[in-house]
Amino acid sequence: MSKKISVLVPMYNEMNSIEPFFERLLSSLGKINYDYEVICVNDGSTDNTLEMLIDYSKKNNKIKIINFSRNFGKEIAMTAALDYSAGHAVVLLDADLQHPPEVISELINEWNQGYDVVYATRKVRLGESWLKKTTALLFYRIIKKLSDINIPQNTGDFRLMDRRVVEALKKLPERTRFMKGLFAWIGFKQKSILFEQQPRWAGQTTWNYWKLWNFALEGITSFSSFPLKVWGYVGVALSIISFVYVLILILQYLIRGVDVPGYTSIMVVMLFLGGIQLIGLGVIGEYLGRVFIEVKERPLYIIRDLYGFDHNQES
Ligand code: UDP
Ligand code: MG
Repeated sequence: MSKKISVLVPMYNEMNSIEPFFERLLSSLGKINYDYEVICVNDGSTDNTLEMLIDYSKKNNKIKIINFSRNFGKEIAMTAALDYSAGHAVVLLDADLQHPPEVISELINEWNQGYDVVYATRKVRLGESWLKKTTALLFYRIIKKLSDINIPQNTGDFRLMDRRVVEALKKLPERTRFMKGLFAWIGFKQKSILFEQQPRWAGQTTWNYWKLWNFALEGITSFSSFPLKVWGYVGVALSIISFVYVLILILQYLIRGVDVPGYTSIMVVMLFLGGIQLIGLGVIGEYLGRVFIEVKERPLYIIRDLYGFDHNQES
C-alpha cells in the first residue's frame, strides 16, 4: 500500500524519553501497512535532544528533523511539523510517551472508516493532580459557554488528521495559535476514541499553573469576544444603580438638608468603580496585546536546520 502517514512530534528537552519513545513508536509503525515518516521538531532544546535525533535520522531515513532557532512552544512546533508533513494523514504525538504509540493503529482504523479527524480522548489522566484535573474541567466548561466552538473535553493534541484537514489548518494565519480551538473550528467529520494517558516517562512537564492560566486566556480571547463586550453591560447596570442612588441622595438633601457624613459610601463607590474600570482596561489590554502580535505579521517560527527532508520538499 502506498499511502503515507506522517507522525509529528514536538520535542523540548526530551533526551531521556527519546530512546524508549522511538523503540515503541517504530515497532508500532512497523506493524501498520503504510509507508510513514516521523517529523521531529527540536523546539530549542538545551540538552542533547538534537544530537540524539540526528543519530536516529542518520540510521533511519524515515526520521526527519526540523531544528528551530530557539524555543517557540509546542503549538508552534506542531504548526511547523504540519507545514512540512507530506503524508495522506498526520498523527500528532507527544514525545514523553504520555500518548501510547500503540494507539496509532486504532486511529488509522477509524480513518479508514472515512473519518477526517480521529482524536484520542483520555479515559483517565494518570499521574496528574486533583487540582490540575479540576482546573482543566473548569476551563473546558468556561470556553464552551463563552465561544460557539465545541472543544471536545479531555482531548489533548493526540489525534490523526486527514490531508484535507491539514491543508485547511495551514490556511489559518493567526499567530496566537490555540490549537485545540483551531482543530474544533475547522470542523470535518470527527470521531473520538478512548485511550489511557500515561504518566510522563522522564523529566518534568513544562506546564506550570501560570503557563496554564495564560494558555486558558489565549483560548478564551482567541475564540470569544464576550469578555470584551461584557463591560458595556456592566457599565449600563452600574449607571442605573448610580442614577437611583443619586435620586435618593437628592431627596435626602431636600428633606433633611445638608448631610456631611458620607466617608464610607464615598470610599466604597470609589474603590468599587476603580476596580471595575481597571478590570475592564485589563481585558481590553489582553485583546489589544494579541492584536498587536497579529499586526506585526512576524513568521510563526524560524528554522535553523532541516535534516532528512528532500530538497524539493523544503517549502
Ligand atoms: N514541548 C515542546 N515545546 C515546549 C514544551 C513542550 O515542543 O516548549 C513538547 C514536549 O517535548 C512534549 C510535548 O510538547 O513532546 C508535551 O509537553 P509536556 O509533556 O511538557 O506537556 P503536557 O504533557 O504536560 O501537556
Ligand atoms: Mg506530557
